[in-house]
Amino acid sequence: MISLYNTLYRKKESFAPIIEHAVSMYHCGPTVYNYAHIGNLRAYVFADILRRMFEYEGYAVHQVVNITDVGHLTSDQDAGEDKIEAGARREGKTAREIAKFYTDAFLADIDALNIKRADKYPKATEHIPEQIALIQKLETGGHTYRTSDGIYFDTSTFPAYGKLAQLDIEGLKEGARIEKNPEKRNAADFALWKFSPKDGAKREQEWESPWGLGFPGWHIECSAMSMKYLGETFDIHTGGIDHIPVHHTNEIAQSESATGKPFVHYWMHSGFVNISGGKMAKSEENFIRLKTLVEKGFSPLSYRYWLLTAHYSKMITFSEEAVRGAQTALGKLYTAIASYKNGGSINASYQKKFVGTVTEDLNTPQAIALVWELVKDDSVSPADKKATLVDFDRVLGLDLENAKEHTAAEPIPDEIQKLTEERESARASGDFARADEIRKKIADLGYEINDTPTGPSIKKIHLDVGRPSE
Ligand code: AMP
Ligand code: ZN
Repeated sequence: MISLYNTLYRKKESFAPIIEHAVSMYHCGPTVYNYAHIGNLRAYVFADILRRMFEYEGYAVHQVVNITDVGHLTSDQDAGEDKIEAGARREGKTAREIAKFYTDAFLADIDALNIKRADKYPKATEHIPEQIALIQKLETGGHTYRTSDGIYFDTSTFPAYGKLAQLDIEGLKEGARIEKNPEKRNAADFALWKFSPKDGAKREQEWESPWGLGFPGWHIECSAMSMKYLGETFDIHTGGIDHIPVHHTNEIAQSESATGKPFVHYWMHSGFVNISGGKMAKSEENFIRLKTLVEKGFSPLSYRYWLLTAHYSKMITFSEEAVRGAQTALGKLYTAIASYKNGGSINASYQKKFVGTVTEDLNTPQAIALVWELVKDDSVSPADKKATLVDFDRVLGLDLENAKEHTAAEPIPDEIQKLTEERESARASGDFARADEIRKKIADLGYEINDTPTGPSIKKIHLDVGRPSE
């Protein structure tokens, strides 16, 4: 039995799929106007563990992650600037260029964290007709109205509005007195389509629609694309907890008003990664990237390990000490596994316990504890330990099978570490000539760099194997 915490009912429920042995999942994806920070990435490590758990349990998984490349305004409400347009201006590039650049950077981070690629990463800008069609459906059903700046969803036409967030609608009405947009009928109403500004400032990304030139609101893209690829009702929708009161609440309102069917059966939300001193947000300049961690000598998989030591739903506070602790633990685990022989078989009793923990709302802290219990258990043969841990790793995704490759036989000298970091920053800034030069220098000093999905790996060149050709 798989038990999942469903935000919709604020309790754990046993999972019942729409189609037997299959699960459809939609995860709110990145807004590609900047790099993802390590907090954002937690949302996708969580989605990956969820997916892997289902696969482990024999489900066919259908997974979609959207790419928000238009319409997400600087406030999650309907005010402020389009983040993509602002990002493009900041960098002197086109909206398309920055969206492509940060989408690629996002996917590189996903690979580095050993997150399996979703089946689809649909872009909002490539689904404008679907979004227009959905808004038209809402218009026909009497759920919309027009203001001077766009087409809005009238939340009073959807009696269940706010059920996910358990919003106090009466309270919201009270709050309406201080509402900034006086044309909104209800405080919680939100934009489905926004008109391009009429005064001078030209938008880069805008489209013709039955209501005039403009662009879709942020929420409608997720309803349109999830229903296009997963059907009008699908199994699981995830995102960070910040999405509960506005974004996911609005997705439910517009999807269910359009179809008259339940939109999603299980809503799951991952907790925030904070840093001491407060929130980490892309719009604040205090965010930490995965690359920042790599430059400090942490492997992406040690960040993944650190995330697994906390339950996905809990808020966690990042510190270098915490991830260093995780890196040390993971290093010990790799060393232990590297010493085990192949050819063992899975220990059934440990496997049963493991399944029990991960199917119980993804209890990864307990799964990690079980890993260590097994490593320390003298009654299990090393070969069986290895077979069992590699089996668990189908869910954990720590690349335990290749433990040997993660254990550095000899420490890498500081000089080589420093050159590697220099080469990384040269690569990041697109200076590939310089990066190649540094690689040669490193080779001359007797070390070889290999770029792996989890960052550069450095190896001493052994003369008996011969110098690797460039
Ligand atoms: P965004 O790219 O801003 O649209 O957000 C991508 C995902 O990251 C969403 O699921 C957010 O809920 C989530 N998120 C944003 N900030 C944090 C944070 N500090 N910690 C964890 N998740 C976050
Ligand atoms: Zn979304």
